[in-house]
Amino acid sequence: MANRREAVVPDRPALDVVPGLGDHAYVHEVSGMVDRAFIYSERWSVQQGRADRTGAQPEILEFERKLIKRCFKLGIPLFAHCVVRGSLEQNRLFKAGRSKARAGESPHNYGAAVDLIHGTKAWALSPKQWAVLGHLGKEVAAQAGIDVIWGGDWKFWDPAHWELANWRSIRAAYADGEDWDGRD
Ligand SMILES: [Zn+2]
Repeated sequence: MANRREAVVPDRPALDVVPGLGDHAYVHEVSGMVDRAFIYSERWSVQQGRADRTGAQPEILEFERKLIKRCFKLGIPLFAHCVVRGSLEQNRLFKAGRSKARAGESPHNYGAAVDLIHGTKAWALSPKQWAVLGHLGKEVAAQAGIDVIWGGDWKFWDPAHWELANWRSIRAAYADGEDWDGRD
């Protein structure tokens, strides 16, 4: 393991990597998210398997994997807090004002979205740190040819959230009244 540890040197941050953030700011925001002790801990591994991925869309899983890997190389622990969400949980979040979608209206209900949060800080990142993750996510998606939308670009700001741009056509493949989750 010692060798592996040494082999993981943070990528040299690209200059101007995040529009609106200077190089210095970028380095600063990244270093605020780095936690190498945690990323090699058992807790990080356990986090990776936490979310329900049953029936998830392969493209969102590929995106998740690639963004987590990209962040891992930088020393940033990231994990999927949620991929697939059933109807009871969806309605509970809606009533609590934590989601703008009712059951059946969220891409999570079709396994077409992922909420990626920090391993130790969870959602408690600064807007600039989220902006860095947003940029990295878009870069990874473009490289993989996966068309995703980032919740950090919305008015209903949800920077942990990433969804497949075509999730509504995925939803359309479900017949009316079909039990689309069957989990709750
Ligand atoms: Zn989400």
